[in-house]
This record gives sequence, structure tokens and C-alpha cells, in this order.
Amino acid sequence: MDVTPILDSLNDAQRQAVTSPSEPALVIAGAGSGKTRVLVHRAAWLIEVEGISPQSLLAVTFTNKAAAEMRNRIESLLNVPVRHLWIGTFHGLAHRMLRRHWREAGLPQNFQIIDSDDQLRLIKRLVKNLEVDDGRWVPKEIQWFINGQKDEGLRPKHIDDEGDPDRRELISLYQSYEDICQRGGLVDFAELLLRAHELLRDNAELLEHYQRRFQHLLVDEFQDTNAIQYAWLRLLAGKKGVPFVVGDDDQSIYRWRGARVEHIHRFQKDFPGTNIVKLEQNYRSTETILNAANAIIANNSSRMGKKLWTDGATGEPIKVYSAYNERDEADFVIGRLRDWIAQGNARADAAILYRSNAQSRVLEEGLINARIPYRVYGGLRFFERAEIKDALAYLRLISNRDDDSSFERVVNKPTRGIGARTVEMMRSYARANACSLWRAAGAIASDDLNGRAANAVNAFMSLIERMARETNGLDLHDRVDHVIHLSTLIDFFKKDKGEKGETRIENLAELVSAAKSFEPDPAEEMSPLDEFLSHAALESGEGQADAWEDCAQLMTMHSAKGLEFPLVFMCGLEDGLFPHQRSVADSQGLEEERRLCYVGITRAMQTLYITHAEQRRLHGMDNFSQPSRFISEIPDEFVEEIRPRVQVARPMRSTRPTHQGRSAGITDNDLGIRLGQRVCHKKFGDGVILNYEGQGAHARVEVNFESAGTKWLVLSYANLELM
Ligand code: ATP
Ligand code: MG
Repeated sequence: MDVTPILDSLNDAQRQAVTSPSEPALVIAGAGSGKTRVLVHRAAWLIEVEGISPQSLLAVTFTNKAAAEMRNRIESLLNVPVRHLWIGTFHGLAHRMLRRHWREAGLPQNFQIIDSDDQLRLIKRLVKNLEVDDGRWVPKEIQWFINGQKDEGLRPKHIDDEGDPDRRELISLYQSYEDICQRGGLVDFAELLLRAHELLRDNAELLEHYQRRFQHLLVDEFQDTNAIQYAWLRLLAGKKGVPFVVGDDDQSIYRWRGARVEHIHRFQKDFPGTNIVKLEQNYRSTETILNAANAIIANNSSRMGKKLWTDGATGEPIKVYSAYNERDEADFVIGRLRDWIAQGNARADAAILYRSNAQSRVLEEGLINARIPYRVYGGLRFFERAEIKDALAYLRLISNRDDDSSFERVVNKPTRGIGARTVEMMRSYARANACSLWRAAGAIASDDLNGRAANAVNAFMSLIERMARETNGLDLHDRVDHVIHLSTLIDFFKKDKGEKGETRIENLAELVSAAKSFEPDPAEEMSPLDEFLSHAALESGEGQADAWEDCAQLMTMHSAKGLEFPLVFMCGLEDGLFPHQRSVADSQGLEEERRLCYVGITRAMQTLYITHAEQRRLHGMDNFSQPSRFISEIPDEFVEEIRPRVQVARPMRSTRPTHQGRSAGITDNDLGIRLGQRVCHKKFGDGVILNYEGQGAHARVEVNFESAGTKWLVLSYANLELM
């Protein structure tokens, strides 16, 4: 057997890991040292050299994008299709098991996945229905509580109320939530994992079957497994399975979702005799980028400690840009990106990373203006957009009438005369009779409602029945198309004047094409429609429309884990945003933010830009901030500061800042101003110029005053003093 293709292009330590005997193994190493590469080559080695059946491998990683990448890499190494292999995310694989064994898992065959938005809406409704004090019980916190318990593997009956009445209330809310989900056949993300675990734990035969089947369990990004994921893996491994896990304690960034780095230590105890391999050579980044990353992470105290090195080039310095505001930041990023593309680079090789999803909007606007195609990973993805969820809700009702969240979503959308009062009656009927809204609707339409309301409800119900009947047996995309058509959603959005309505209609059309290009997996035992709906909930737009187009990549630093790009921009490095306000107070939180920063920096292969803004409007609020402390943790020798700032105002008498205190008396045509310039107003006090428009007597400036907030002022009247 020629093993050259598999072992070539590996260094000694990597080769040792790939060819290690059939024993539990833990590869612990820094970013870009080839962990994922080792995992992929290990899979190929097991199949090609050890003669293991591909069916007896299970490979799991964190994001859909990473899973697709892993699948591709194994496929190209082996030169055989690996479509049916169990390669995926924890959620994806758990879902697959639940679909196969829905009966044993105690679920209806057509159970639906709800995303965290749906979940929150469900909880809000619950809080309202139970008439609990929603001032005291914030739905988001209840959601947090429920998911946190599930991540730890706990059902309401397992949780101790510790004699605390508040806690008791939360536990009872959790129970009510669970009842609703069970009744409607709804499964949230955390539930997928918990159920899959219970499925194996409580079904000895199944467990034995899977333990026998999966001899080798390969896990990437092991540092971010939470309790329930780890428990599931342990169950699957049993006594004979061979887990092979790779990870990096410095890249643990999901503590807030229950991830436990301690699993790295726990693993060595649970699997005695674990083979430990360390990798230290980095193949991804320039020496400068690597040194900067090492310097930052050295500020964390709780680390296993390791040092990465590279024999690659020193590379260019890291460029740091101080922007006035978020718009200036976006202009800068897009300008540099455009230059880079003009030099013949692929757009997909550039990534713009940010801490919080809301930051993407301004960057997106800039990209649209510059006509640079881009794709956002995370955030409001395609399948999460309102109009898409509307259409999906109809489709879901076709598949499962008892899906309450879909029912509520579209019962009166488009408006069909079913008022809030009628819906309220359905809810209380459903509550009293522990049934779904669909059943409640049928019951009250024939007994309690007046003629008009009853007609409206009946019309809705027969519409759904008609959709189901008329589209039964059609191809998936025809089915989707037909349902959208029957729903009259398009006419509804046509009334939404302007671009917004148009975009929504375009998106609906896009849903039909998504269905068209969707390839049902013949191995799955569910209808193409159910599979498509699960796909919509699970994939949430990754690899969405336009996947073929070369486009710049936008994502949060969390979603960038495991990926690499020749050019990386890290935006919004400001104290309060990154590190995030929430985390600066406690040292553990700060260390997690620092690890996230380490993840961000180590995505860059050749060129890295870091930007921050002196003021930023986010969530409708203006904030003045200091550059992130992480920037100052990078030794000066690796940094090049980019100044002077871009001059946005037209030429004027003097582009230099005027001397302190001198009244420059800005007048008419001579808009002697710069964006970012500090000014003082008699009434509003000190502020900074954010924007300007118009000319002559009509010239106006937007000033962000420190105490009075943002105001537009007519320049000729404002009497601003330049500082
Ligand atoms: P992360 O911690 O970010 O997930 P990783 O440890 O998984 O990183 P990989 O993504 O596997 O690292 O590898 C980083 C880059 O280095 C990839 O482009 C990979 O192809 C390359 N690489 C890894 N090992 C070698 C090697 N021995 N020779 C050449 N290139 C390598
Ligand atoms: Mg990796």
C-alpha cells in the first residue's frame, strides 16, 4: 500500500499522531499547527491503511462550514465520495440520530427544529399565558436558564430548587416550556443534543449498535465541547471505541454556552493511557502575526502553556487604523479591500471579522456601495429573515399542523381578519385542553366564534389543507413555489412600498431556488420537505445562495474559528466592544475575550489589519471608546500605525487642526471642517463632527455632543468653536 499521499506533507509530530495505534489520543496544539489537517489525514489513514470501513468512523466538528471543509478534504485525499459518512456538527449528527430513531426518542416522526428566535418567541408567549410577572421574568433570561440546564444534561426534575422560590419558578417555567415543545413536536438546538444523549443512554440495544458501529471517533475543536456533548461522546465510545480528539485550550471561546476546557484534563482520566501529542510548528501565519498572537495570549494566566513557532517569512507589520467613527472605519476597510482585490486576489481570501453581529450592517452598506460581493456568516442569515420564516411556517404547518409557533406566525399573515382576540381564545382553549392551537382553532370555530371570525378561521384552516393536498407529490421546489403562491405573501409584501418589499419578494424567489438546488440525502428516512425544513433550521444560511460567487467573507470572530484567510480585518477593537463590556469585570470573562482575540489574529495568513473607532453608533447609541487593551498588548515592533486620517472635507485654507481655543468661525463655502474634529457649542458643549452635507447657506453638520447627543446643525448659525 502506498501511503505517501497520506503521510507526505506532514511533519514528524503530525505523522506520529496520524499513525498512532488504535488507542485514545489527544492532540493539543496552538492555532494553525495542523490539528485539523492531522484529523483529516487520520481518517484517511484509518480507511486506506488500517482498512477500517468508512462506515465505522464518526467525525465531528463545530460549524457547518468546518464540517463541509473536512468532508471535502477527506474526499480529495481518498479520492472517493464520502457522502454517507458520519461527518458533521454535534447538532447535525444528533439530529440525524433522532430522525432515525424518532420513536425511541419519544418524538413525532415529523418533529421540527426551532432556532433560538423561535424559542424566544415561544417563551414570551408562555410568560404571557401563565401570567407570570414579565417584569421579573425576562424571557431572554428564562431562555438562558433553560438552555444552560439542557447543556448540562438536566431536565426540570433533576434540578434542585435549593429552597429558592425564584429558582422554583424558573424550573416550573422550564417544565411548561418542555410540555409545549413535546406537544408540538418542537425541538430546540440544546434539545437536539440532550435528546440524542438520552436516546443512547436509555436504549441499551441502540447504544450497543452504535458503539459497535463507530470504532473511531474523531473530534475537532475539542476544547469547546460542553457537558452534554462530552457525555454523548463518552457513551458512544464505550469501552472499545477509540476517540481521537484535537484541540487548543487557548481557543476555548464558548464558556458562555457551557463549553468546558476542563474536558481536556477529564479526557485523560476517562481514557487512561491516552496518547498525547503536541504540535508546535505553525504553518499558517507570518512570524509577525504569530508573535503578536503569542504576546497577547501570554497575558492569560489559566493556560496549559505552549509556544508556537514558524520557519516562514517575517511578513509585514500588523496595521492598526484609528477611525473617527464606524463609517470612517468601514471606508478604510473597504478601500484597502478594494486595492487588494485590484491586485488580482480572490475576494473569498479576505475576511472581515467583528465581535458583534450588529457591526456588520455599516460594513455591508459600504460593500454594497463599492459593489464588492460579500457573504455574511452568522447574523441575520437567509433562513432567519422574516419573510423566509413566514414561508417556512406555511410549509411547516403542512407537515405538522400542531406546530404552534408556525401557526401563530401565519394565522393572520397576510391579514385575513383573525384578530388578537380570536387568537387569544385559541390560546386559552389550547391551554385548558392541553392541545395544539390548530385543534383549538377547529374547536372554537365551530362552537364559540361569531360568524365572521369563524369564517376567517375556517378559511385559514382550509387554506392549509388545500396547500397540503394540492402540493402533495410535487417536486420539492414546485411545492415550495406553490405554497408561497397560495399563501399570497407576495401580494402582501408588494404593498410594502420601496426596496424593502422588493427585497422580501426577491428573497422568497430565492427560497424556491434554494429548494431547487437542495439535494435530499437518500439515506435519510424523511420526506424531502421535512429534510429541507430541518436543513433550513440547522444550516441557517451557511453555504446559502450565491455560494458559487467569489465574495468577501464577513463573520463574527466566533464563527471564524478553524478557518484561515490570506487577508484579515479585525474591526471594532475598542474597550467595551472587544473586550465586551459584559466580560471586563470578571477575570475569567476577560480571559475568554482574550482567547477570542487570539482566535481572530491567528486566522490571518499574510496581512492583518486591526481597526478601532473613537466613537461608534451601535444599537442606536453613540459611544466614545478607548482602543482595546488587546491592541496595546501587541509589542510595538510588530505594529504599524496608519495615519494621517482620511480627509473627508473638501480642501480648505488650512488642513491642519486649528490651535486650541481659537475661534475659527466656520462660514459658508469654506467648510473648514474635518470629520472627527472636536468642536464646542455654546449650549450643547463639547462634541465631535460626524458628518456634513449641503453647501453654502445650506451646509449642515452632524455633531455628536458628549452630553447632548447627536444633532444636525446649520453651520452658518451654529457658531461652532474649533478645538
Ligand atoms: P486552528 O487551531 O486554527 O483550527 P489547526 O491547528 O487546525 O488550526 P490547520 O488548519 O490544520 O491548523 O492547518 C493550518 C494551515 O497549515 C493549513 O493551511 C494547513 O494546510 C497547513 N499545514 C499544516 N501542516 C502542514 C505541513 N506539515 N506542511 C505544510 N502545511 C501544513
Ligand atoms: Mg483546526
